Amino acid sequence: MAYAAATMTSEPWIVHKFGGSSLADADCFRRVASIVDSRQGVPRAVVVSAVGGVTDRLLRMVDQARTRDNGYKDGLAAIRADHERLADELLANESARQAFQTSFDASCTDMADVLHATALIGSEVPQVRDVVAGAGELWSAQLLAGLLQQDAADDSVDWLDAREVLVIEHSELGPDVLWDESRQRLRRRLGDFHGTVVITGFIARDRDGVQTTLGRNGSDYSASIFAALLDASQVNIWTDVPGVMSADPRLVAESAVIAELTYDEAMELAYFGAKVLHPRTMAPAVDSGIPIYIRDSAAPTTAGTRIGSKASASSVVKGITAIDGMALVNVEGAGMIGVPGTAWRLFGALRDAGISVVLISQGSSEHSICFAVRDEHAGRVSGVLSDAFRPELDTGQLQSIEVTPGCSILAVVGDGMAGIPGVAAKVFGSLGRAGVNVRAIAQGSSERNISAVIDDSDTVRALRAVHAGFYLSPQTLSIGFIGPGSVGSVLLEQMSGEATRLADELNLDLRVRALATSRHMVLDERGIELDGWRDRLGANGTPLDLSRFADHIKTEHLPHSLIIDCSSSDIVAAEYAGWLGRGIHIVTPNKKANSGSFEYYQQLIRERRAGDARFLYETTVGAALPIIQTLRDLRETGDRITRIEGIFSGTLAYLFNLYDGTRPFSALVREARELGYTEPDPRDDLSGMDVARKVVILGREMGLELELDDIQLESLVPEVLRDCSIEQFLDGLADYDHVIAEVYRQAANAGEVLRYIGRLEADGSASVGLTPVSADSAFAHINLTDNIVQFQTARYCDNPLVVQGPGAGPAVTAGGVFADLLRLAGYLGASV
Ligand code: ADP
Ligand code: ASP
Ligand code: MG
Repeated sequence: MAYAAATMTSEPWIVHKFGGSSLADADCFRRVASIVDSRQGVPRAVVVSAVGGVTDRLLRMVDQARTRDNGYKDGLAAIRADHERLADELLANESARQAFQTSFDASCTDMADVLHATALIGSEVPQVRDVVAGAGELWSAQLLAGLLQQDAADDSVDWLDAREVLVIEHSELGPDVLWDESRQRLRRRLGDFHGTVVITGFIARDRDGVQTTLGRNGSDYSASIFAALLDASQVNIWTDVPGVMSADPRLVAESAVIAELTYDEAMELAYFGAKVLHPRTMAPAVDSGIPIYIRDSAAPTTAGTRIGSKASASSVVKGITAIDGMALVNVEGAGMIGVPGTAWRLFGALRDAGISVVLISQGSSEHSICFAVRDEHAGRVSGVLSDAFRPELDTGQLQSIEVTPGCSILAVVGDGMAGIPGVAAKVFGSLGRAGVNVRAIAQGSSERNISAVIDDSDTVRALRAVHAGFYLSPQTLSIGFIGPGSVGSVLLEQMSGEATRLADELNLDLRVRALATSRHMVLDERGIELDGWRDRLGANGTPLDLSRFADHIKTEHLPHSLIIDCSSSDIVAAEYAGWLGRGIHIVTPNKKANSGSFEYYQQLIRERRAGDARFLYETTVGAALPIIQTLRDLRETGDRITRIEGIFSGTLAYLFNLYDGTRPFSALVREARELGYTEPDPRDDLSGMDVARKVVILGREMGLELELDDIQLESLVPEVLRDCSIEQFLDGLADYDHVIAEVYRQAANAGEVLRYIGRLEADGSASVGLTPVSADSAFAHINLTDNIVQFQTARYCDNPLVVQGPGAGPAVTAGGVFADLLRLAGYLGASV
């Protein structure tokens, strides 16, 4: 091939590399051509991968031929057709089209022969895979060169088969470039050519001239090798994402482009799974300080990622990656303690067996060594090590060699981590809160990388949890919402109204992925638009199935799951224990669970601990008033509670605040009902049961073993009116007006007023009922529907601690549930 000296220039070379994803079809090729724009005078090397997916298809054909599956013939025919179609679409110039066809035909014939021979032998000659796999790059390079040539209209464009110049040698650490020989060959080939040369990525030759490859995804490496050989000023790696992202965008949708990386950071990310770059790409560029840009071929004007020797430290952690398909090996034995050379023998044995070790972690006691290898080597590790340590195993100095397949390595990378305390705590805190079990940990002494070995099945959840933990993406909560009734619907409105602010200011993404009424539910993978929840339930609701509901919420790929129960259902409450045990957090104003049987209450505590889940229920007593939190603070700081006393029902507070004997009690009840101050059935309030439940909740919070039955309960619903209709009840209640009137009169004579009070003593005695209180006491002077609670404690003995304020109403209650939700988010790592 003769290279013409197109433009004599002293300008340095620029290297572009286009991956298979940027060469998927004819439009992609045209876009690539416009990016390269060969008419400009700067000398360019354009390194190409095979057309998207072709290398995989070629390798599949080798496997088929080896196993004598004739499918390889169809595979070859399909690949032929695809490339011919591309040539038809791209090469308008008949002679260019013909030149491609001639070379392509010859190449396909050779390939058919090689595959045929492989099928005949029924096994694979070592070089066959490399020869077949590398053909894709030869074809794509010729197609692109043809296209650029026809646009350039002179001989400033040519193509180069990298096997002519790039000489490598395979060592234990991978391919090594023979730099001097390669440089000489390239110089000889290019002469004083300074146009645009399209170069095949991926392929090379060995010392003997035999075709070989740089390994899968190796075209990135080819690009930086050619950049070094050409003393290029920069390498542009064009791909299908906007740069190196803070995590694999297929797994973490919120990942963002990293503007700058150091070579070391990029290497760590690539080594631990960021497929966007081959891990070796950086090495040739480091020595000459050539910057590498990762850019999006579909958006060529965007900046992408710059990789160089220095990078601005925008954040402590730059990116998080994961590689799956790992096995963890744990070698344990007292005989390893203080014995020099054990690790050397161990890793030597693995090296001799060709098993490479991806990560090593050794406890300082030297009692065990733990390391990770690729899953495909897992089967051999045990045998190799048993052979190497036979004497130690026989004498018991080495106790076990345990291999756990199905693991992943999660790596958190950033130069800025060095010397910053707390980074590891944040990584493992995020993993712990997302319920990810960490099997082994390794941190390089450079502190650039913290790696954790986890179960394969936890990978996505772990990636997202750590990504969010470092505020690289919002903390996402997978939320199941039950009971969009009076409180629930207001809460949904509040959440919808605050969603943008929470996302912007607190980096919090509240995703309601399931919504249920007592009969129906809607499940949504991405999250339900909160503004339109009524329509969604109406149009797509399916019958309620609480176990499906919980399964949907507890999804593997989102780190945190939460159920908000705004119903008052005991059927739902009965599910809490199971949910907590599975690590689903619960936020609720529903009193049924905490005031159910004591046995269930204890089960809730056990399951909550087992599942490491949070259970927040501040609004079960006094709506949003800080009653439970106050009680907890008192107890946890060592105060001793002697008595809790209070008005816990807004309805009953209202009734007795108004009642002064002038109007019958039954008339006030009727009026309160009409004003919406009572439950639809006022007996739910007047029975005192609701107050009794609150007292039980507080009692248990105090540490008392209290059942509902233990409460001395004075119901204001006469026995005979308990089972009749609401109307009958309201009418019948008038017959009892005189009873209340009499109690009121007696109290008034003694300078007292009536209040419906719940009381709890440290010895466990508890009562709920109508109680006369002094007309100048705090209980006598509350606003209409206020709640008031007095805590008498060792510290607050002379003057009780009082919490008072509106203790009911949808808006305040919903606000209280929302506050619990944000408290939970804060605990899970959001910056609230
Ligand atoms: P090409 O064909 O251009 O060589 P690859 O498929 O080899 O492209 O690499 C690009 C792909 O790498 C992206 O489409 C993306 O799915 C994946 N990827 C994995 N991790 C990352 C990451 N951290 N940043 C960007 N892309 C990533
Ligand atoms: N075509 C090769 C592969 O698929 C090399 C590359 O794309 O980088 O592995
Ligand atoms: Mg690639």
